[in-house]
Amino acid sequence: MTSRSVIPIKNATEIEHMRQSGHALRSILDELRGMAQPGVTTREIDVRAGELIKAKGGKSPFLNYRGFPGNICVSVNEEVVHGIGGSRRIQYGDVVKIDAGLILNGWVSDSAITVPVGEIDPAVAKMLVASEESLMVGIAQARAGNRVHDISAAIEQYVVKRGYSVVREFVGHGVGRQLHEEPQVPNYGRAGTGAKLKAGMTICIEPMVNLGRPEVKILADGWTVVTTDGKPSCHVEHTVLITEDEPEILTCLGTTESKS
Ligand code: MG
Ligand code: MG
Repeated sequence: MTSRSVIPIKNATEIEHMRQSGHALRSILDELRGMAQPGVTTREIDVRAGELIKAKGGKSPFLNYRGFPGNICVSVNEEVVHGIGGSRRIQYGDVVKIDAGLILNGWVSDSAITVPVGEIDPAVAKMLVASEESLMVGIAQARAGNRVHDISAAIEQYVVKRGYSVVREFVGHGVGRQLHEEPQVPNYGRAGTGAKLKAGMTICIEPMVNLGRPEVKILADGWTVVTTDGKPSCHVEHTVLITEDEPEILTCLGTTESKS
């Protein structure tokens, strides 16, 4: 029996599997990004994701997860996360959050992008930049010897300082053989607390940033998380490897090359 508090450490072979999963997922997300266009339904993006995942020889870790009906999550504007592909048509000016995962050779990667459709509200465009920056600020804290909430605190401070709020009900997580492993990686918290990070840990860091209030609720479909005030939200995510040195973004192509 494994204790709930055990954070798996991956060996070199396992890390290479995680890297391959992450790089394949990146190419899938890059293709899906181009699909977020006016008139396209969120279901069409989900269906294409299913095809791309299959073409890689992989599986979706989201499909049937606790009954989730989609290959990926597609969430628009006030929808924060866990949107189910359906008949909603993307409109000019929307922000579309595409959250995808891949199981390749038994190893899971997980990454999300927020795509602006055409010219979006400048306030939302600014928040999107801040969200992406907060992810990088969080990743910079993902170092051996640091603690989990060093990541959390860095993200929260970056976001709140700019006048936005972070969602508290949903958090980042360890990832590997399973989609959700220890530890939880909140987007808020106190620096210097939480589990100590060690080389070989793989975690998903995923700020969910709201333009208005932090509160969210779940729609009647049982999945879609929306902001309570109806204001837009951004969500970005990477799967990250803790090393003795710089963190490696596994869901980013060329990270290892650029380090040389
Ligand atoms: Mg995700
Ligand atoms: Mg995740």
